[in-house]
Amino acid sequence: MPDIVLIGGGHAHLFVLEAFANAPLTGARLTLITREAFAPYSGMLPGRVSGQYAIDSGEVDLKRMAERAGARFIHASATAIDRAARHVVIEGDAPVPYDLLSLDIGIVPDVASIPGAAENALIVKPISTFRRKLDGLLADLGDGRVRDLVVVGGGPAGFELAHALRRRADRMPVSPGGIRVTLAAGRRLLGGVPERGRRLARRSLAEAGVDLVEGTRAVRIDPDAVILDDGRSLGAQAAIVTTRAAAPEMLGRSGLAVDGSGFLKVRPTLQAEDDDRLFAAGDCVTLLGQERPKAGVFAVRQGPVLAENLRRAAQGRALRPYRAQRHYLMLLADSRGKAIALRNGLAIRSRLAFWLKDRIDRGFVDRFDDGS
Ligand SMILES: Cc1cc2nc3c(=O)[nH]c(=O)nc-3n(C[C@H](O)[C@H](O)[C@H](O)COP(=O)(O)OP(=O)(O)OC[C@H]3O[C@@H](n4cnc5c(N)ncnc54)[C@H](O)[C@@H]3O)c2cc1C
Repeated sequence: MPDIVLIGGGHAHLFVLEAFANAPLTGARLTLITREAFAPYSGMLPGRVSGQYAIDSGEVDLKRMAERAGARFIHASATAIDRAARHVVIEGDAPVPYDLLSLDIGIVPDVASIPGAAENALIVKPISTFRRKLDGLLADLGDGRVRDLVVVGGGPAGFELAHALRRRADRMPVSPGGIRVTLAAGRRLLGGVPERGRRLARRSLAEAGVDLVEGTRAVRIDPDAVILDDGRSLGAQAAIVTTRAAAPEMLGRSGLAVDGSGFLKVRPTLQAEDDDRLFAAGDCVTLLGQERPKAGVFAVRQGPVLAENLRRAAQGRALRPYRAQRHYLMLLADSRGKAIALRNGLAIRSRLAFWLKDRIDRGFVDRFDDGS
């Protein structure tokens, strides 16, 4: 009886659990090891911050999904993989043996890159703990303890969170002068996005009343300020860091084949470069020959292929290759009920795009979590 063990409740593993619930694999034992009982869907996080969605929405109940898939549910953190013994080491419990192992464990915050970030800033990743941190921030905003809020990081998450916080702050009964929200976007807002998309993004920030600081990077975060590399200091009783994240240490520590940044190298079959029993998907991997940015859309597209390949591997059948799409639709929601849609170098900003993003995001969560 093959033992199939999944580590992490990331986006791709939701598809694996769904596939095994829909078509159980006779004779196989499935296990999910997850640090979190609920998988937060990243696309809806800014909307939870802004108040567009209820604060406790946009999460998938992993225990219930595991039950439906007939999987053992182990609520624990995996700390290492012992490939010689073929088991997973988990915190505070006996090792979990495997025949096939799949990792969908996301990324961890790279707090070391900005001194003071760990002590003084609210770090977005892991998203699962962001809810707790957010509660504290909202209380501080409501009490008037935070008058200057700085979001550090000019990628899609930083852009959306700055808007979301602006919208939330606008509803706070704070006066006079209100709460200032600044986006410290690093060298360039939305680097990698075509210039027209960036222009639309700058305009939407200006319309919303978010101050944008570009062309300079945050080098330190103090308890009451974000310090920039041009010597400026942005007053900040609260700072939120959404800059680049790093690979989970467990990968390198377990002696797996990782790239220069510590991400697991996988082949198109989503198997590790040097291990046919080890599969992985999502942000924690580098797909050899098809490198792409870290985005949930890839974890989502890899999910069905991962599910199918785990099944085929358990049955000793040939595996399917995954092909990463070159172009994909990126939707960036703002606080004015519009979103910027980006694809194939084109960019538009409209209410329709906002509606579409809401529909896609809610559809994703409803697919896996029907609330029953
Ligand atoms: C604010 C924000 C908005 C975003 N919006 C979008 C968007 O609109 N579109 C988009 O494409 N991308 C978006 N992203 C990026 C997106 O969050 C990631 O690309 C996506 O979550 C990656 O999914 P994943 O499956 O790799 O893992 P994750 O969703 O990160 O899940 C990994 C899971 O594994 C668990 N885990 C980790 N280590 C262990 C361990 N050792 N043992 C057990 N469990 C473990 C974690 O607790 C976590 O639950 C956004 C990111 C942020 C921060």
